[in-house]
Amino acid sequence: MTPTIPDEIKQRVNNQIKTCWKIAKNTYPDFKLRLPVVYYTKRGGVAGTANSFCNRLNFNPTLLMKNLENGFIAQTVTHECAHLIANHVYNTDCKHGNLWKRIMLDLGVKPERCHNYDMSHLKPHKWHCACQTHNMSKRMHNAMMKGVGRRCKKCKTTLSPGPLTHHLDPPKRKISTSRIDWTGTSFRKDKICEPTKNARLLEIIDMCDGTQTVEQLFNDVKKAKKQIRTLARRGYAIELNNGKIKISC
Ligand SMILES: [Zn+2]
Ligand SMILES: [Zn+2]
Repeated sequence: MTPTIPDEIKQRVNNQIKTCWKIAKNTYPDFKLRLPVVYYTKRGGVAGTANSFCNRLNFNPTLLMKNLENGFIAQTVTHECAHLIANHVYNTDCKHGNLWKRIMLDLGVKPERCHNYDMSHLKPHKWHCACQTHNMSKRMHNAMMKGVGRRCKKCKTTLSPGPLTHHLDPPKRKISTSRIDWTGTSFRKDKICEPTKNARLLEIIDMCDGTQTVEQLFNDVKKAKKQIRTLARRGYAIELNNGKIKISC
């Protein structure tokens, strides 16, 4: 929704333009440009534009009203005035070059090209991947609701509607060896099959030197028992000693 601008705010904008014009007249004796016409029809991410051909300024009403406290009038209004003044004084399209920068300094404002106003209102729809919440525009949101898939560049998972409320990678719960109930666990060696080809298990066997605990060796302690049993079935000798595990062929 485009907000309507109260007369009081329009007055503040006009006053800022008049202040800029006053400085320009005092600084450049030949300055004869009349005051510009002001429009408030810009939308999207553009804060304002200046049209020297029509001597016209156009501001974004949404960004104006949202950023009254963030210096919209002091910074953005002056920025656009500086375009009209610079192009008139130097009789050329100064863009954001040194001539424009000089006028900005004359007007007492830092010559910055871009604004950094909050633009989250342009992307009000929340979607999530496995790692974060993504903000989507209404247009993209509608397309995605119709099945257009979007992936997160970071985690490569497809986005789902709604914000990320949970973390898929919760801090690992530490389970001490004592919490694993080994009673009734038998590591049978009788049924000897081929040695394991499971890369992760081979890695574990490689690391195991009889000094580590089950936790240190197996990432997922809940799966450890099953994995140890698999190893035993595959013909490995498993020894458990005070929580330390030894695996040998
Ligand atoms: Zn500009
Ligand atoms: Zn992600």
